[in-house]
Amino acid sequence: MSTSRIPGFHNLTREERLAKVADLAGLDAAQVAHLTAAAAHDGDLADHLSENVISVMAVPLGVATNLIVDGAEVLVPMASEESSVVAAVCNGARACREAGGIVTQADDPCMIAQVQVTGLDDLEAARAAVLAQKQAIAAECDGCDPMLVRLGGGFRDVEVRIAGPFLVVHLIVDVRDAMGANAVNTMAERLAPKIEGWTGGKVGLRILSNLADRRLVRARATWPADEIGAETVAGIIGAWEFAAHDPYRAATHNKGIMNGVAAVALATGNDTRALEAGAHAFAAKDGYGPLTRYWIEGADLVGEIEMPMPVGIVGGATRAHPTAQASLRIMGVETADRLARVMAAVGLVQNFSALRALATEGIQRGHMGLHARNVAIAAGASGDEIDRVAAEMIARGEIREDVARELLV
Ligand code: NAD
Repeated sequence: MSTSRIPGFHNLTREERLAKVADLAGLDAAQVAHLTAAAAHDGDLADHLSENVISVMAVPLGVATNLIVDGAEVLVPMASEESSVVAAVCNGARACREAGGIVTQADDPCMIAQVQVTGLDDLEAARAAVLAQKQAIAAECDGCDPMLVRLGGGFRDVEVRIAGPFLVVHLIVDVRDAMGANAVNTMAERLAPKIEGWTGGKVGLRILSNLADRRLVRARATWPADEIGAETVAGIIGAWEFAAHDPYRAATHNKGIMNGVAAVALATGNDTRALEAGAHAFAAKDGYGPLTRYWIEGADLVGEIEMPMPVGIVGGATRAHPTAQASLRIMGVETADRLARVMAAVGLVQNFSALRALATEGIQRGHMGLHARNVAIAAGASGDEIDRVAAEMIARGEIREDVARELLV
């Protein structure tokens, strides 16, 4: 690369940007044609959503079947490039249908905005000064977002923490059907000068916390022993105990949960990074551990998940992206509360299926079948060749691109 400095790059049209990058990076005609074709449909939308766009990255949108959440059947769209993720949800959900599916509970959709106050000598006095202004704080916050207040949301509480040398003011705001980042950030910024006045300190950062622990969702399901087998029940309990005792295992356990949660988030235009950050920070609150837990009732397996679920059906890309709108429609979701509950259910069921596979045949057998198809595609297979090459690689026990290429000639 001769230079990464391209003055005025953002002012070029998408086609001009692609041509510029193609030139600098030495893309061949086929690569440029692919990137151009990929953007043919959603390129303009992508241009509005992000910056310096040259094309669109297509991610598969699958639909998980078999879920019953709080007594209602639901089809769940999932956007993920990882094989086995959608299949795992379908299988795990089928195995708990007879026992009623997944039952959920959710907190009110409250987000936390943080205002950091620096330069204070008497932190306790400053803390009291802020708490004494609760009514003024409520009025200021609600004044920022009359629409939110009309919908039943708005300021709920103020908390003041001391973190090292800083005073940290937490604004707790019910954001209704929004993820709420912009909504609460606006409030934190608006309130900052007042907080400086009340405390005599200087405000530093003003932004939401992604540790959305006022917006937890819980989901629970029962998998009957006569459906999954006593050995699987015991195996899943053992796999969960491993995660409960070992953060190295818990990280992978929780990653599997996020395979499901993040895929629904992406399909609905939600902020996957906010969810990831919140989930892992919550999992680490008392020493990093699993977001789910499992136990036995009678002979049956019961599983439960608890995690923050800051998702919206308004704001961000949720309204702007037609695929997100279609995904919400497929789910029949009309509130952020319902979306959060369905996503917790997906996270739980995903985790159940991953643990079942790990505790029985191992993850590779199922996973590798789908992985083999990806390897075949990467090696240049198309159409019927994909399944033929994948099947042959699996039969040989050699799922590698060089093997796929050899099988293609
Ligand atoms: P937003 O500001 O676009 O929409 C929320 C607003 O919509 C509310 O303030 C309200 O006025 C209005 N509204 C209309 N109908 C509503 C309803 N039924 N319920 C609630 N509000 C309704 O979006 P947002 O949700 O405040 O912010 C989400 C975006 O912020 C995401 O794109 C996220 O990526 C981004 N973001 C995230 C972070 C972070 O996570 N750290 C930081 C900054 C921005």
